[in-house]
Amino acid sequence: MGVGSENVQEGVAMLDTIEGPVFEPGADGYDDERTGFQTADPHRPSVIVGAVNADDVAAAVRHAAEHGLPVAVQNTGHGLPLAAAGGLLISTRRMTGLRVDPEARTAWIEAGVRWGQVVEEAGKHGLAPLSGSSPGVGAVSYTLGGGVGLLSRLYGYAADQVRSIDVVTADGRARHVTPGDDLFWALLGGRANFGVVTSLEIGLVPVARLYGGGLYFDAEQVPAVLEVWRTWSATVPDAMTSSVALMPVPDIPVFPAPLRGRHVAHVRIAYVGDDGERLIAPLRAIGPRLIDTVDEMPYTASATIHNEPPVPMAYHATNVVLNELDAETVGDLLGLVGPGAPDRAILEIRHLGGAMAKPAPNAVGNRGARYLVGVLSKLDPGVSVEALHDRVGDTLGAKASGRLLNFLFGANATPEEVRASYEPEIYRRLAELKAAYDPSNMFRLNHNIPPAR
Ligand SMILES: Cc1cc2nc3c(=O)[nH]c(=O)nc-3n(C[C@H](O)[C@H](O)[C@H](O)COP(=O)(O)OP(=O)(O)OC[C@H]3O[C@@H](n4cnc5c(N)ncnc54)[C@H](O)[C@@H]3O)c2cc1C
Repeated sequence: MGVGSENVQEGVAMLDTIEGPVFEPGADGYDDERTGFQTADPHRPSVIVGAVNADDVAAAVRHAAEHGLPVAVQNTGHGLPLAAAGGLLISTRRMTGLRVDPEARTAWIEAGVRWGQVVEEAGKHGLAPLSGSSPGVGAVSYTLGGGVGLLSRLYGYAADQVRSIDVVTADGRARHVTPGDDLFWALLGGRANFGVVTSLEIGLVPVARLYGGGLYFDAEQVPAVLEVWRTWSATVPDAMTSSVALMPVPDIPVFPAPLRGRHVAHVRIAYVGDDGERLIAPLRAIGPRLIDTVDEMPYTASATIHNEPPVPMAYHATNVVLNELDAETVGDLLGLVGPGAPDRAILEIRHLGGAMAKPAPNAVGNRGARYLVGVLSKLDPGVSVEALHDRVGDTLGAKASGRLLNFLFGANATPEEVRASYEPEIYRRLAELKAAYDPSNMFRLNHNIPPAR
Protein backbone atom coordinates (compact mmCIF):
# COMPACT_ATOMS: atom_id res chain seq x y z
CA MET A 1 0.00 0.00 0.00
CA GLY A 2 3.02 2.25 0.05
CA VAL A 3 2.65 3.41 3.64
CA GLY A 4 5.29 3.57 6.34
CA SER A 5 4.78 0.59 8.63
CA GLU A 6 3.23 -2.84 8.77
CA ASN A 7 0.90 -1.53 11.46
CA VAL A 8 -0.48 1.08 9.16
CA GLN A 9 -0.84 -1.29 6.19
CA GLU A 10 -2.91 -3.64 8.26
CA GLY A 11 -4.78 -0.64 9.68
CA VAL A 12 -5.67 0.89 6.32
CA ALA A 13 -7.41 -2.35 5.40
CA MET A 14 -9.37 -2.11 8.66
CA LEU A 15 -10.45 1.41 7.73
CA ASP A 16 -12.54 -0.10 4.89
CA THR A 17 -15.69 0.27 7.01
CA ILE A 18 -15.34 4.03 6.92
CA GLU A 19 -17.83 5.80 4.67
CA GLY A 20 -15.58 8.75 3.79
CA PRO A 21 -12.36 8.56 1.77
CA VAL A 22 -9.08 7.31 3.22
CA PHE A 23 -5.83 8.74 1.86
CA GLU A 24 -2.30 7.38 2.05
CA PRO A 25 0.89 9.30 1.24
CA GLY A 26 1.31 9.60 -2.52
CA ALA A 27 -2.38 9.02 -3.24
CA ASP A 28 -4.45 11.51 -5.21
CA GLY A 29 -6.02 13.94 -2.77
CA TYR A 30 -3.54 13.27 0.08
CA ASP A 31 -1.73 16.60 -0.31
CA ASP A 32 -4.91 18.59 -0.73
CA GLU A 33 -6.45 16.96 2.33
CA ARG A 34 -3.52 17.60 4.67
CA THR A 35 -2.94 21.20 3.55
CA GLY A 36 -5.11 24.00 4.87
CA PHE A 37 -4.99 27.77 5.31
CA GLN A 38 -1.52 27.75 6.89
CA THR A 39 0.68 26.34 4.14
CA ALA A 40 3.99 26.32 6.06
CA ASP A 41 4.91 22.81 7.21
CA PRO A 42 1.57 20.95 6.90
CA HIS A 43 0.79 17.65 8.63
CA ARG A 44 2.48 14.56 7.08
CA PRO A 45 0.36 11.73 8.51
CA SER A 46 0.69 8.04 7.61
CA VAL A 47 -3.01 7.96 6.83
CA ILE A 48 -5.86 10.47 6.57
CA VAL A 49 -9.51 9.67 7.23
CA GLY A 50 -11.87 12.08 5.46
CA ALA A 51 -14.71 11.61 7.95
CA VAL A 52 -18.26 12.25 6.75
CA ASN A 53 -20.02 11.60 10.06
CA ALA A 54 -19.50 10.85 13.75
CA ASP A 55 -19.37 7.08 13.08
CA ASP A 56 -16.38 7.60 10.78
CA VAL A 57 -14.66 9.62 13.49
CA ALA A 58 -15.31 6.89 16.09
CA ALA A 59 -14.04 4.17 13.73
CA ALA A 60 -10.90 6.17 12.97
CA VAL A 61 -10.18 6.76 16.66
CA ARG A 62 -10.72 3.06 17.49
CA HIS A 63 -8.41 2.13 14.65
CA ALA A 64 -5.73 4.51 15.96
CA ALA A 65 -6.11 3.12 19.49
CA GLU A 66 -5.76 -0.47 18.28
CA HIS A 67 -2.62 0.38 16.29
CA GLY A 68 -0.98 2.77 18.71
CA LEU A 69 -1.19 5.69 16.28
CA PRO A 70 -1.26 9.30 17.49
CA VAL A 71 -4.25 11.28 16.20
CA ALA A 72 -4.43 14.78 14.70
CA VAL A 73 -7.62 16.59 13.65
CA GLN A 74 -8.00 19.25 11.00
CA ASN A 75 -10.83 21.23 9.51
CA THR A 76 -9.58 24.36 7.70
CA GLY A 77 -5.95 24.43 8.87
CA HIS A 78 -6.22 28.02 10.18
CA GLY A 79 -4.86 26.90 13.54
CA LEU A 80 -2.27 24.31 12.54
CA PRO A 81 -0.06 23.47 15.53
CA LEU A 82 3.26 21.61 15.24
CA ALA A 83 2.87 19.37 12.20
CA ALA A 84 2.36 15.63 12.56
CA ALA A 85 5.04 13.38 11.09
CA GLY A 86 3.17 10.07 10.85
CA GLY A 87 0.05 9.12 12.77
CA LEU A 88 -3.57 9.37 11.72
CA LEU A 89 -5.18 12.63 10.63
CA ILE A 90 -8.95 12.96 10.88
CA SER A 91 -10.11 15.55 8.38
CA THR A 92 -13.52 16.97 9.28
CA ARG A 93 -14.09 19.27 6.31
CA ARG A 94 -16.92 17.11 4.90
CA MET A 95 -18.96 17.30 8.13
CA THR A 96 -20.85 20.48 7.30
CA GLY A 97 -24.24 19.82 8.92
CA LEU A 98 -25.87 22.92 10.41
CA ARG A 99 -29.30 23.51 11.99
CA VAL A 100 -30.55 26.75 13.51
CA ASP A 101 -33.40 26.67 16.02
CA PRO A 102 -34.73 30.26 16.02
CA GLU A 103 -37.09 29.65 18.96
CA ALA A 104 -34.42 28.27 21.25
CA ARG A 105 -31.81 30.67 19.75
CA THR A 106 -29.37 27.83 19.25
CA ALA A 107 -27.43 26.26 16.41
CA TRP A 108 -26.21 22.69 16.00
CA ILE A 109 -22.96 22.71 14.08
CA GLU A 110 -20.93 19.81 12.80
CA ALA A 111 -17.13 19.67 13.00
CA GLY A 112 -16.47 20.90 9.45
CA VAL A 113 -18.67 24.02 9.53
CA ARG A 114 -17.02 27.41 9.00
CA TRP A 115 -18.27 30.60 10.65
CA GLY A 116 -19.48 32.15 7.39
CA GLN A 117 -22.06 29.37 7.07
CA VAL A 118 -23.41 29.92 10.60
CA VAL A 119 -23.51 33.73 10.25
CA GLU A 120 -25.54 33.41 7.06
CA GLU A 121 -28.02 30.87 8.44
CA ALA A 122 -28.47 32.55 11.86
CA GLY A 123 -28.85 35.94 10.14
CA LYS A 124 -32.05 34.72 8.44
CA HIS A 125 -33.63 34.74 11.91
CA GLY A 126 -32.13 38.02 13.20
CA LEU A 127 -29.56 36.07 15.24
CA ALA A 128 -25.75 35.93 15.32
CA PRO A 129 -23.11 33.51 16.63
CA LEU A 130 -20.08 34.80 18.54
CA SER A 131 -17.99 34.48 15.39
CA GLY A 132 -14.63 36.13 14.88
CA SER A 133 -12.78 38.15 12.32
CA SER A 134 -12.75 35.58 9.51
CA PRO A 135 -15.73 33.70 8.02
CA GLY A 136 -13.32 31.02 6.80
CA VAL A 137 -12.27 29.86 10.29
CA GLY A 138 -13.72 26.58 11.59
CA ALA A 139 -16.52 27.26 14.10
CA VAL A 140 -15.88 24.19 16.27
CA SER A 141 -12.13 24.51 16.86
CA TYR A 142 -12.45 28.30 17.31
CA THR A 143 -15.08 27.73 19.99
CA LEU A 144 -13.15 24.93 21.72
CA GLY A 145 -10.13 27.27 21.87
CA GLY A 146 -12.19 30.02 23.56
CA GLY A 147 -13.17 32.20 20.62
CA VAL A 148 -12.56 35.95 20.68
CA GLY A 149 -15.51 37.24 18.67
CA LEU A 150 -16.65 40.52 17.17
CA LEU A 151 -19.24 40.79 19.99
CA SER A 152 -17.20 39.12 22.73
CA ARG A 153 -16.78 42.11 25.02
CA LEU A 154 -20.58 42.16 25.23
CA TYR A 155 -21.36 38.42 25.27
CA GLY A 156 -18.13 36.66 26.33
CA TYR A 157 -16.06 33.96 24.68
CA ALA A 158 -17.77 31.74 22.11
CA ALA A 159 -17.04 28.84 24.47
CA ASP A 160 -19.29 30.48 27.07
CA GLN A 161 -22.31 30.00 24.76
CA VAL A 162 -21.90 26.24 24.28
CA ARG A 163 -24.88 24.14 25.42
CA SER A 164 -23.68 20.61 24.64
CA ILE A 165 -20.85 18.75 22.92
CA ASP A 166 -20.72 15.47 21.00
CA VAL A 167 -17.23 14.02 21.19
CA VAL A 168 -15.35 10.81 20.50
CA THR A 169 -12.87 10.15 23.28
CA ALA A 170 -9.61 8.16 23.16
CA ASP A 171 -11.44 4.91 23.99
CA GLY A 172 -13.43 5.30 20.76
CA ARG A 173 -16.68 6.08 22.64
CA ALA A 174 -19.06 8.71 21.30
CA ARG A 175 -20.29 10.82 24.25
CA HIS A 176 -22.78 13.65 24.63
CA VAL A 177 -21.58 16.03 27.35
CA THR A 178 -23.31 19.01 28.96
CA PRO A 179 -22.51 21.65 31.61
CA GLY A 180 -21.56 19.94 34.84
CA ASP A 181 -19.60 17.13 33.12
CA ASP A 182 -15.87 17.38 33.66
CA LEU A 183 -15.29 16.59 29.98
CA PHE A 184 -17.53 19.52 28.99
CA TRP A 185 -15.41 21.81 31.16
CA ALA A 186 -12.13 20.43 29.78
CA LEU A 187 -13.04 20.46 26.06
CA LEU A 188 -13.97 24.15 26.18
CA GLY A 189 -10.45 25.48 26.48
CA GLY A 190 -8.50 22.21 26.30
CA ARG A 191 -9.81 21.40 22.79
CA ALA A 192 -8.28 18.47 20.86
CA ASN A 193 -6.52 17.07 23.93
CA PHE A 194 -9.72 15.39 25.09
CA GLY A 195 -11.19 13.98 21.91
CA VAL A 196 -12.53 14.71 18.46
CA VAL A 197 -15.62 16.87 18.71
CA THR A 198 -18.13 15.81 16.08
CA SER A 199 -20.69 18.55 16.79
CA LEU A 200 -21.57 21.40 19.14
CA GLU A 201 -24.82 23.00 20.19
CA ILE A 202 -24.22 26.73 20.68
CA GLY A 203 -26.31 29.67 21.82
CA LEU A 204 -26.96 32.53 19.37
CA VAL A 205 -27.40 36.18 20.33
CA PRO A 206 -30.18 38.54 19.14
CA VAL A 207 -27.99 40.81 17.02
CA ALA A 208 -29.21 41.46 13.46
CA ARG A 209 -27.40 44.77 12.93
CA LEU A 210 -24.41 46.55 14.36
CA TYR A 211 -22.40 49.73 13.90
CA GLY A 212 -19.17 48.50 12.44
CA GLY A 213 -16.44 48.67 9.84
CA GLY A 214 -12.88 49.88 9.43
CA LEU A 215 -11.07 53.22 9.71
CA TYR A 216 -7.86 53.23 7.65
CA PHE A 217 -5.23 55.86 8.38
CA ASP A 218 -1.99 56.63 6.53
CA ALA A 219 1.52 56.05 7.91
CA GLU A 220 2.16 59.50 9.41
CA GLN A 221 -0.96 59.14 11.59
CA VAL A 222 0.01 55.70 12.91
CA PRO A 223 1.57 56.84 16.24
CA ALA A 224 -1.48 59.04 16.96
CA VAL A 225 -3.88 56.23 16.03
CA LEU A 226 -2.22 53.81 18.44
CA GLU A 227 -2.09 56.33 21.26
CA VAL A 228 -5.69 57.55 20.82
CA TRP A 229 -7.05 53.99 20.42
CA ARG A 230 -5.04 52.82 23.48
CA THR A 231 -6.50 55.45 25.82
CA TRP A 232 -9.96 55.44 24.18
CA SER A 233 -10.35 51.65 24.37
CA ALA A 234 -9.83 51.78 28.13
CA THR A 235 -12.98 53.94 28.46
CA VAL A 236 -15.54 52.33 26.12
CA PRO A 237 -18.60 50.28 27.19
CA ASP A 238 -18.65 46.49 26.83
CA ALA A 239 -20.92 46.80 23.78
CA MET A 240 -17.87 48.13 21.87
CA THR A 241 -15.38 45.55 20.64
CA SER A 242 -12.48 46.95 18.64
CA SER A 243 -8.94 46.25 17.51
CA VAL A 244 -6.18 47.95 15.58
CA ALA A 245 -3.78 46.56 13.01
CA LEU A 246 -0.69 48.07 11.38
CA MET A 247 -0.08 46.68 7.91
CA PRO A 248 2.40 47.29 5.14
CA VAL A 249 0.03 46.96 2.17
CA PRO A 250 1.64 45.62 -1.03
CA ASP A 251 1.27 47.81 -4.11
CA ILE A 252 -0.81 45.27 -6.03
CA PRO A 253 -4.36 45.44 -7.45
CA VAL A 254 -5.96 42.97 -4.99
CA PHE A 255 -5.87 45.76 -2.38
CA PRO A 256 -8.08 48.88 -2.54
CA ALA A 257 -6.31 51.65 -4.46
CA PRO A 258 -6.17 54.15 -1.53
CA LEU A 259 -4.19 51.63 0.59
CA ARG A 260 -1.72 50.28 -1.98
CA GLY A 261 1.95 50.73 -1.19
CA ARG A 262 1.23 52.40 2.18
CA HIS A 263 1.86 51.36 5.78
CA VAL A 264 -1.61 51.80 7.20
CA ALA A 265 -3.35 51.65 10.55
CA HIS A 266 -6.69 49.82 10.40
CA VAL A 267 -9.04 50.35 13.35
CA ARG A 268 -11.83 47.75 13.42
CA ILE A 269 -15.14 48.59 15.08
CA ALA A 270 -18.05 46.36 16.14
CA TYR A 271 -20.62 48.10 18.32
CA VAL A 272 -24.10 47.09 19.41
CA GLY A 273 -26.00 50.28 20.28
CA ASP A 274 -27.49 53.48 18.89
CA ASP A 275 -24.74 55.98 19.71
CA GLY A 276 -21.85 54.42 17.79
CA GLU A 277 -21.09 57.53 15.76
CA ARG A 278 -20.70 59.63 18.92
CA LEU A 279 -18.64 56.92 20.58
CA ILE A 280 -16.04 56.66 17.83
CA ALA A 281 -15.81 60.44 17.25
CA PRO A 282 -12.40 60.64 19.04
CA LEU A 283 -11.02 58.11 16.52
CA ARG A 284 -12.32 60.04 13.51
CA ALA A 285 -10.92 63.24 15.06
CA ILE A 286 -7.40 61.84 14.59
CA GLY A 287 -7.60 63.09 11.01
CA PRO A 288 -8.54 62.11 7.48
CA ARG A 289 -9.05 58.45 6.69
CA LEU A 290 -7.82 56.73 3.53
CA ILE A 291 -11.00 54.63 3.76
CA ASP A 292 -13.79 54.81 6.34
CA THR A 293 -16.40 52.06 6.16
CA VAL A 294 -17.84 52.35 9.68
CA ASP A 295 -21.63 52.50 9.47
CA GLU A 296 -24.79 50.58 10.32
CA MET A 297 -24.54 47.11 8.79
CA PRO A 298 -26.23 43.72 9.03
CA TYR A 299 -24.26 41.18 11.06
CA THR A 300 -24.10 39.08 7.89
CA ALA A 301 -21.69 41.72 6.49
CA SER A 302 -19.42 41.54 9.55
CA ALA A 303 -16.58 39.85 7.65
CA THR A 304 -15.88 43.25 6.08
CA ILE A 305 -14.85 44.65 9.47
CA HIS A 306 -11.47 42.89 9.52
CA ASN A 307 -11.32 41.92 5.83
CA GLU A 308 -9.11 38.92 6.59
CA PRO A 309 -7.35 37.39 3.58
CA PRO A 310 -9.26 34.34 2.26
CA VAL A 311 -6.21 32.89 0.49
CA PRO A 312 -4.01 30.22 2.13
CA MET A 313 -0.50 31.39 2.97
CA ALA A 314 2.63 30.58 4.97
CA TYR A 315 3.12 32.68 8.07
CA HIS A 316 4.81 32.86 11.45
CA ALA A 317 3.15 34.62 14.36
CA THR A 318 3.92 35.63 17.94
CA ASN A 319 0.99 36.40 20.25
CA VAL A 320 0.72 37.35 23.91
CA VAL A 321 -1.94 38.79 26.17
CA LEU A 322 -1.39 41.81 28.40
CA ASN A 323 -3.25 43.00 31.48
CA GLU A 324 -2.37 46.56 30.54
CA LEU A 325 -1.33 48.35 27.37
CA ASP A 326 1.01 51.18 28.31
CA ALA A 327 2.50 53.89 26.12
CA GLU A 328 5.97 52.38 26.47
CA THR A 329 4.82 49.03 25.02
CA VAL A 330 3.13 50.78 22.12
CA GLY A 331 6.34 52.74 21.46
CA ASP A 332 8.38 49.53 21.51
CA LEU A 333 6.01 47.87 19.04
CA LEU A 334 6.16 50.87 16.71
CA GLY A 335 9.95 50.62 16.74
CA LEU A 336 9.80 46.92 15.88
CA VAL A 337 7.06 46.79 13.25
CA GLY A 338 5.74 50.32 12.67
CA PRO A 339 6.18 52.34 9.48
CA GLY A 340 9.89 52.80 8.82
CA ALA A 341 10.94 49.76 10.89
CA PRO A 342 13.47 47.53 9.10
CA ASP A 343 11.20 44.45 9.23
CA ARG A 344 7.85 44.21 7.46
CA ALA A 345 5.20 42.48 9.55
CA ILE A 346 1.59 42.92 10.61
CA LEU A 347 0.86 44.08 14.14
CA GLU A 348 -2.57 43.45 15.61
CA ILE A 349 -3.87 44.55 19.03
CA ARG A 350 -7.34 43.37 20.08
CA HIS A 351 -9.27 44.80 23.02
CA LEU A 352 -10.40 42.01 25.38
CA GLY A 353 -12.09 42.29 28.79
CA GLY A 354 -15.78 43.09 29.31
CA ALA A 355 -17.86 39.89 29.41
CA MET A 356 -14.77 37.83 28.51
CA ALA A 357 -13.46 38.51 32.01
CA LYS A 358 -16.52 36.92 33.66
CA PRO A 359 -16.13 33.40 35.07
CA ALA A 360 -17.75 30.58 33.06
CA PRO A 361 -17.96 26.79 33.57
CA ASN A 362 -15.13 25.98 31.17
CA ALA A 363 -11.34 25.82 30.96
CA VAL A 364 -10.74 28.96 28.89
CA GLY A 365 -7.71 30.58 30.49
CA ASN A 366 -6.39 34.09 31.08
CA ARG A 367 -9.82 35.72 31.27
CA GLY A 368 -8.34 38.68 33.11
CA ALA A 369 -6.32 39.75 30.06
CA ARG A 370 -7.20 43.15 28.63
CA TYR A 371 -5.35 43.13 25.27
CA LEU A 372 -4.16 40.54 22.78
CA VAL A 373 -1.02 41.56 20.89
CA GLY A 374 0.16 39.66 17.83
CA VAL A 375 2.88 40.09 15.24
CA LEU A 376 2.50 38.10 12.03
CA SER A 377 5.09 37.70 9.29
CA LYS A 378 4.27 36.27 5.90
CA LEU A 379 6.94 33.70 5.04
CA ASP A 380 8.64 34.52 1.74
CA PRO A 381 11.47 32.44 0.25
CA GLY A 382 14.89 33.64 1.39
CA VAL A 383 13.54 36.02 4.07
CA SER A 384 14.21 35.07 7.68
CA VAL A 385 11.73 36.28 10.29
CA GLU A 386 13.07 34.50 13.38
CA ALA A 387 15.22 37.41 14.61
CA LEU A 388 12.24 39.80 14.50
CA HIS A 389 10.02 37.37 16.39
CA ASP A 390 12.76 36.80 18.97
CA ARG A 391 12.91 40.57 19.51
CA VAL A 392 9.10 40.77 19.75
CA GLY A 393 9.15 37.90 22.25
CA ASP A 394 11.88 39.58 24.31
CA THR A 395 10.08 42.93 24.26
CA LEU A 396 6.67 41.59 25.22
CA GLY A 397 7.79 38.60 27.29
CA ALA A 398 8.25 40.39 30.61
CA LYS A 399 4.94 42.24 30.25
CA ALA A 400 2.85 39.32 29.00
CA SER A 401 0.32 37.81 31.36
CA GLY A 402 -0.01 34.69 29.19
CA ARG A 403 -1.29 33.44 25.82
CA LEU A 404 -4.61 32.52 24.21
CA LEU A 405 -4.75 29.01 22.78
CA ASN A 406 -6.54 30.10 19.60
CA PHE A 407 -3.66 32.36 18.68
CA LEU A 408 -0.84 29.82 19.03
CA PHE A 409 0.08 28.86 15.51
CA GLY A 410 2.73 26.44 14.19
CA ALA A 411 6.08 26.80 15.89
CA ASN A 412 4.39 28.81 18.65
CA ALA A 413 2.30 25.86 19.82
CA THR A 414 5.03 24.55 22.13
CA PRO A 415 4.14 22.87 25.45
CA GLU A 416 5.36 25.98 27.31
CA GLU A 417 3.17 28.32 25.26
CA VAL A 418 0.19 26.01 25.69
CA ARG A 419 0.77 25.95 29.46
CA ALA A 420 0.92 29.77 29.45
CA SER A 421 -2.61 29.79 27.99
CA TYR A 422 -4.07 28.84 31.38
CA GLU A 423 -3.82 29.84 35.00
CA PRO A 424 -1.79 27.17 36.89
CA GLU A 425 -4.86 25.69 38.63
CA ILE A 426 -6.74 25.32 35.32
CA TYR A 427 -3.71 23.72 33.68
CA ARG A 428 -3.29 21.31 36.60
CA ARG A 429 -6.91 20.18 36.38
CA LEU A 430 -6.67 19.80 32.60
CA ALA A 431 -3.56 17.64 32.96
CA GLU A 432 -5.34 15.46 35.55
CA LEU A 433 -8.39 15.04 33.30
CA LYS A 434 -6.07 14.28 30.39
CA ALA A 435 -4.59 11.46 32.47
CA ALA A 436 -8.10 10.14 33.09
CA TYR A 437 -9.44 10.40 29.51
CA ASP A 438 -6.32 9.96 27.36
CA PRO A 439 -3.60 8.41 29.53
CA SER A 440 -1.44 7.36 26.56
CA ASN A 441 -1.69 10.87 25.05
CA MET A 442 -3.04 9.51 21.78
CA PHE A 443 -4.34 13.02 21.08
CA ARG A 444 -0.91 14.66 21.14
CA LEU A 445 -0.60 16.07 17.61
CA ASN A 446 -2.23 19.30 18.77
CA HIS A 447 -1.77 22.10 21.30
CA ASN A 448 -0.75 19.41 23.70
CA ILE A 449 -1.33 19.10 27.42
CA PRO A 450 0.57 15.96 28.51
CA PRO A 451 -1.27 13.76 31.06
CA ALA A 452 -0.41 14.42 34.72
CA ARG A 453 1.77 11.67 36.17
C1 LIG B 1 -7.10 34.60 9.53
C2 LIG B 1 -7.41 34.11 10.92
C3 LIG B 1 -8.35 34.79 11.68
C4 LIG B 1 -8.66 34.35 12.98
N1 LIG B 1 -9.56 35.06 13.74
C5 LIG B 1 -9.83 34.66 15.00
C6 LIG B 1 -10.73 35.39 15.83
O1 LIG B 1 -11.30 36.41 15.44
N2 LIG B 1 -10.95 34.93 17.10
C7 LIG B 1 -10.37 33.80 17.57
O2 LIG B 1 -10.61 33.40 18.72
N3 LIG B 1 -9.51 33.10 16.81
C8 LIG B 1 -9.22 33.51 15.55
N4 LIG B 1 -8.33 32.81 14.81
C9 LIG B 1 -7.72 31.59 15.37
C10 LIG B 1 -8.64 30.40 15.12
O3 LIG B 1 -9.79 30.49 15.93
C11 LIG B 1 -7.91 29.11 15.49
O4 LIG B 1 -6.76 29.03 14.71
C12 LIG B 1 -8.79 27.90 15.29
O5 LIG B 1 -8.14 26.79 15.86
C13 LIG B 1 -9.02 27.62 13.83
O6 LIG B 1 -9.87 26.51 13.68
P1 LIG B 1 -9.94 25.78 12.28
O7 LIG B 1 -10.84 24.62 12.38
O8 LIG B 1 -10.24 26.81 11.27
O9 LIG B 1 -8.44 25.33 12.08
P2 LIG B 1 -7.73 23.90 12.13
O10 LIG B 1 -6.30 24.20 11.85
O11 LIG B 1 -8.40 22.94 11.23
O12 LIG B 1 -7.89 23.43 13.63
C14 LIG B 1 -6.97 23.89 14.61
C15 LIG B 1 -6.76 22.82 15.66
O13 LIG B 1 -7.97 22.63 16.36
C16 LIG B 1 -8.12 21.26 16.73
N5 LIG B 1 -9.38 20.78 16.17
C17 LIG B 1 -9.89 21.04 14.95
N6 LIG B 1 -11.09 20.44 14.82
C18 LIG B 1 -11.33 19.78 15.97
C19 LIG B 1 -12.40 18.96 16.43
N7 LIG B 1 -13.46 18.71 15.67
N8 LIG B 1 -12.30 18.43 17.67
C20 LIG B 1 -11.24 18.66 18.45
N9 LIG B 1 -10.20 19.44 18.06
C21 LIG B 1 -10.25 19.99 16.83
C22 LIG B 1 -6.92 20.53 16.17
O14 LIG B 1 -5.92 20.37 17.14
C23 LIG B 1 -6.43 21.45 15.08
O15 LIG B 1 -5.05 21.34 14.84
C24 LIG B 1 -8.00 33.23 13.51
C25 LIG B 1 -7.03 32.54 12.75
C26 LIG B 1 -6.73 32.99 11.47
C27 LIG B 1 -5.67 32.27 10.69
